[in-house]
Amino acid sequence: MIIELAENYGFCFGVKRAIKKAEQIQNAATIGELIHNPAEINRLQQNFNVKTLKDIRALSDEKKAIIRTHGITKGDLAELRKKDIEIIDATCPFVTKPQQICEKMSAEGYDVVIFGDENHPEVKGVKSYVSTRAFVVLDESELEGIKLPSKIAVVSQTTKKPELFAKIVSFLLLRCKEVRVFNTICDATFKNQDAILKLSQKSDVMIIVGGKNSANTKQLFLISKANCEHSYLIETEKELEKAWFEGKKHCGVSAGASTPDWIIKNVVARIREFG
Ligand code: SF4
Repeated sequence: MIIELAENYGFCFGVKRAIKKAEQIQNAATIGELIHNPAEINRLQQNFNVKTLKDIRALSDEKKAIIRTHGITKGDLAELRKKDIEIIDATCPFVTKPQQICEKMSAEGYDVVIFGDENHPEVKGVKSYVSTRAFVVLDESELEGIKLPSKIAVVSQTTKKPELFAKIVSFLLLRCKEVRVFNTICDATFKNQDAILKLSQKSDVMIIVGGKNSANTKQLFLISKANCEHSYLIETEKELEKAWFEGKKHCGVSAGASTPDWIIKNVVARIREFG
């Protein structure tokens, strides 16, 4: 069986940057999970004494707080700044960008449409920077029946699909006089998505490695599943099952933007054993 890695996969710029900061700082607490990968979070805790707190309310006597890649809300940041604690901001610059856009557009009187998942920490953070009305939607149908203003700004959660973002933009263009569009979808997501699309079309089994709570990993899995019925989403090599590979000729492997290389290597080694 051939095992082929996607042309682009795994750690993105924002995650590499956050992990580097955490390793350098050490003995710190992250506000929310630094990245969406339980095994890597565990490694940071074991080797660098970087622990994960649910939110700023869980802080007690910590001296250093690291803000996760997805950022935190404007209110939480203000609270954190009032505390006697060193703040290390590991928010990905691609996430800071929509936060800044929302703040600026609201200040100029624009309501804001955010294409994203209302419960995702990144979206909660971005939305908190809107001081006018914010509409968080997963598709344009959620805007039906809402009395929209004449001028509106639109941003996207970084991991969303550009085609769906374009549909929301078209919907708004037909209804509002002025639509300010900011494509805040991240490059890393595009590259990993393009690569898995190609690979899943020629593979008869696909393994996608990443946190099951990671939005971009789930997205990769969905793209793969649409082309390759035998697509599996796993967090570590321990979840692999021999039966998945029986009679298969081409195994594609990809990984979400918060999956470290050491996990991917373990997965490939285990598949080789099966092959
Ligand atoms: S996927 Fe993109 S936005 Fe998210 S952390 Fe990575 S580089 Fe930043």
